[in-house]
Amino acid sequence: MFDLQSYYKAHSVDEAVGLLTTHPNSRLLAGGTDILIKLRHGKSGFAELIDIHGLSELRYIKKDETKNILIGSGTLFTDIIESELLQNHMPMLCDAAQSVGGPQIRNVATIGGNICNGVTSADSAPGLFALNALLQIQGISGVREVPIEKFYLGPGKVDLQRGDVLTAIKVTEENYGGSFGYYSKYAMRDAMDIATIGCAVTLTTDAGRVSDYRIAYGVAGPVPIRCPQTERAVIGRQISPELLDMIAERVAGDVNPRTSWRASKDFRLNIIEELSKRATEQALQRAGGNI
Ligand SMILES: Cc1cc2nc3c(=O)[nH]c(=O)nc-3n(C[C@H](O)[C@H](O)[C@H](O)COP(=O)(O)OP(=O)(O)OC[C@H]3O[C@@H](n4cnc5c(N)ncnc54)[C@H](O)[C@@H]3O)c2cc1C
Repeated sequence: MFDLQSYYKAHSVDEAVGLLTTHPNSRLLAGGTDILIKLRHGKSGFAELIDIHGLSELRYIKKDETKNILIGSGTLFTDIIESELLQNHMPMLCDAAQSVGGPQIRNVATIGGNICNGVTSADSAPGLFALNALLQIQGISGVREVPIEKFYLGPGKVDLQRGDVLTAIKVTEENYGGSFGYYSKYAMRDAMDIATIGCAVTLTTDAGRVSDYRIAYGVAGPVPIRCPQTERAVIGRQISPELLDMIAERVAGDVNPRTSWRASKDFRLNIIEELSKRATEQALQRAGGNI
């Protein structure tokens, strides 16, 4: 049974902000693939739902006049997979979307819900970390932009205040332009399983060298993380098989995985190293280079 007292349908973001503010014991429902499970478990800590599912003002993928790419928070994973704009500029996000659940989940789950639930295993998070994504949040006092790295405050905790709605995810041209990325996920089963480790790499190359390199992980710590020491060590280096080995050695110093019922810390560290190589190699291939 769902332990629910009230349900409200919001017809706009403004209305959702108002409803969240006047109903402090409420939560947003987007695709419902996380929130309804929490509600069913009976330990949700809320009793009211504000439904933003299907709001057209939250479901879009577009490039604005300054070439930022904007993804509405209500965009479905299926929309992301099918988006020509994303396939051309950020195929890494399409890789990640393709790896989420099964078709039924991808047809209803939103990228906004994936980020706002605050879990380290969210498949869209590593790619958005690597792309230095900015989150646009509308609340009682207006709209603010938060870098995704600052949005995650701890396991299941994100920087959302009462009344806040994540409206869009923005990636600036300087963060996607000329770069090539790849998302590699390892899960215990091939189908319908959350990530044991997820790894996103985005890079640019110039005359046989790596001129920019960003690598991010899910499940390598309590929240998704970037690997700053590894990134610094890679930039400027010549592309070679030895470079992949160096990356795999370095990433261990940037991550902090833990043992859980899914996998031991040592096993996760092995996967972290392996995925760093796979994601980097695939990103290099997309960049037109071979190792
Ligand atoms: C069978 C199954 C398989 C799954 N497989 C995967 C997987 O492989 N990879 C993966 O990453 N996830 C997976 N999930 C988890 C889930 O589907 C995703 O996290 C999904 O993206 C959540 O989106 P949603 O729209 O359903 O969110 P909802 O459940 O509607 O909401 C999730 C949370 O975000 C909040 N929220 C939603 N939208 C907003 C917004 N715009 N502003 C502020 N807060 C908001 C809600 O209040 C809630 O707290 C799976 C779930 C199931 C049931």
